Amino acid sequence: AKADGRGTYCVFDSRMDAVLKDQRELETELREAIANGEISLEFQPVYSVEDWSIVSAEALARWNHPTRGPISPETFIPLAEECGLIGELEAQVLQQACEAALQWPSHICVAVNLSPLQFHSGSLPSRVIDTLESTGFPPERLQMEVTESLLIQDVDRTFEQLEALRAHGIQVLLDDFGVGYSSLSYFQRFTFDRVKIDRSFVNEIDRSHTAKAIVEAIVRLGRKLQMGVVAEGVETEEQMHVLSAMGCTHLQGYFLSRPVNSKLVSRASLQNVA
Ligand code: C2E
Ligand code: CA
Ligand code: CA
Ligand code: CA
Repeated sequence: AKADGRGTYCVFDSRMDAVLKDQRELETELREAIANGEISLEFQPVYSVEDWSIVSAEALARWNHPTRGPISPETFIPLAEECGLIGELEAQVLQQACEAALQWPSHICVAVNLSPLQFHSGSLPSRVIDTLESTGFPPERLQMEVTESLLIQDVDRTFEQLEALRAHGIQVLLDDFGVGYSSLSYFQRFTFDRVKIDRSFVNEIDRSHTAKAIVEAIVRLGRKLQMGVVAEGVETEEQMHVLSAMGCTHLQGYFLSRPVNSKLVSRASLQNVA
């Protein structure tokens, strides 16, 4: 091919076409997967540092594509957000999570992740409460994980809806704390039940003084404000020891348990990691 501008653009265009076509195909397939109930869940246990028992498990969405194989939620969650499918997807996640957790020992809570887009319509609290009522799941056993990114738009409306959830007895957790658009002023406006320290700090804890200082500061803040502090992404025994010695109240990560199927949550809760 000639190295003229036109040729270059043609190649570029056809590549872009291929990417877009693939994206559209994936979108169609995701739509079908949701309609057919093919989104499933795994649950990753969260351990109490006090006695190393399992206190909750986080529902993580899974899509095992028939030909492409497992697709990461880092791919299909943003796709669902882009093409207006996130409401339906997360409605299914919540429903499945409640049904699964009803089979667990009754002291174990279930956590679900919430897309920031869910707060746009204003109807989230009533939809969540409807699901709790129809499944018979106790609100006190439900935790909703929200990320800081959700708090940059429409702050007042978002806080109102978080208040409504909390007034109903649902626990609200601040996920991925410390990355993105962190603002300490959120704590003046809303009482989170727990903060989850992002795993980028947890990962560095035994190598970096800075990461250690940040975790220490979050732990102190949690104590003062009476919020639990969860360290996520704990991958080694050493991290586990350091983080529990530093005063994190809860730990989660591959070292303690990978995400597992619902039945294994019950089974694991009968064992003790210590
Ligand atoms: P997240 O909420 O921060 O969830 C934790 C992610 O870290 C999960 O990835 C989990 O499998 C992984 N993880 C847990 N322990 C470790 C560890 O020790 N080391 C490492 N390297 N990773 C660990 P997963 O399941 O791929 O989910 C990725 C993200 O997708 C989640 O991050 C969450 O933001 C999103 N996601 C999953 N399900 C849902 C959902 O139903 N709704 C929404 N909005 N987002 C979801
Ligand atoms: Ca989460
Ligand atoms: Ca997280
Ligand atoms: Ca994350």
